[in-house]
Amino acid sequence: MIIRLALAVSMLIPFSLAAQTQLTAAQVIARIQQAIPQKPLADTVDTIKAGEPSAIVAGIVTTFTPSMDVLRRAVALHANLVITHEPTFYNHRDESTLFINDPVYKEKLAYIHDHHLVIWRFHDQWHLRRPDGIGEGFIAAVGWQKYQHPNDPFFFTLPPTTVDALAQDLQQKLHARIVRVVGDPSLPVTGVAYRPGASGEAKQVQALERDDVQVLVAGEASEWETVMYTQDAQQQHRPKALILLGHSTSETDGMETAATWLRTVFPGLPIQYVNSAEPYWLPGHPPQP
Ligand SMILES: [Zn+2]
Repeated sequence: MIIRLALAVSMLIPFSLAAQTQLTAAQVIARIQQAIPQKPLADTVDTIKAGEPSAIVAGIVTTFTPSMDVLRRAVALHANLVITHEPTFYNHRDESTLFINDPVYKEKLAYIHDHHLVIWRFHDQWHLRRPDGIGEGFIAAVGWQKYQHPNDPFFFTLPPTTVDALAQDLQQKLHARIVRVVGDPSLPVTGVAYRPGASGEAKQVQALERDDVQVLVAGEASEWETVMYTQDAQQQHRPKALILLGHSTSETDGMETAATWLRTVFPGLPIQYVNSAEPYWLPGHPPQP
């Protein structure tokens, strides 16, 4: 049985490799977009941000943000298509107006061109997919599948815990240096909402307004919006708290899920997830090099 399987695999792999090494970046992207039934709107940010669409794809790296270190790692892995969830050039639409004479922008763009990389953003459609690809990665990482509301996949009923215990549990499971918490540490918790990334004040406050939610677990929020709302709610003795994971920590596992899924779409292509790393550190506790 093992011999027969090995023979079958050895016959299949060279064939699929030969077929797939000829795909251009544009063809890989089109195939990804076809493979997901939910299509993004016409003005999607899921576009090529730098590089040549006609480049033959040697390998793929998925990541949360294409930092300089991620780009260097992609080059070391001989991958030339970088699939990123978030922008390359420091704003939602990757507009260069502000950066056209900026040394950081220019060095990054030159690195991408010198190494013949193609950067494609995979944001809108990965969120539109059902299940949401980013949510799938986060929920698996924290082990909350069994607590998920069947018709409301970003809401959970957990075994009874407290805000502080929940925050510590998330910090440990997500390997986060920094997690910020607003609210009473000893507040009892069962109902939790998850709002990844920068979901905005409206979605965040609407989640906190629900009677079945005590804690909102979010990526980031303006400190004078959801943060202040939660602080006021606590000071009015309402059972509400906010755990801010940081944008990267709240979403990066979903890009590892993207790599796993992409391997099913392109079985012959080398595909790696590269962690773009949490940017923050605490005074006195700098990150290990
Ligand atoms: Zn996102």
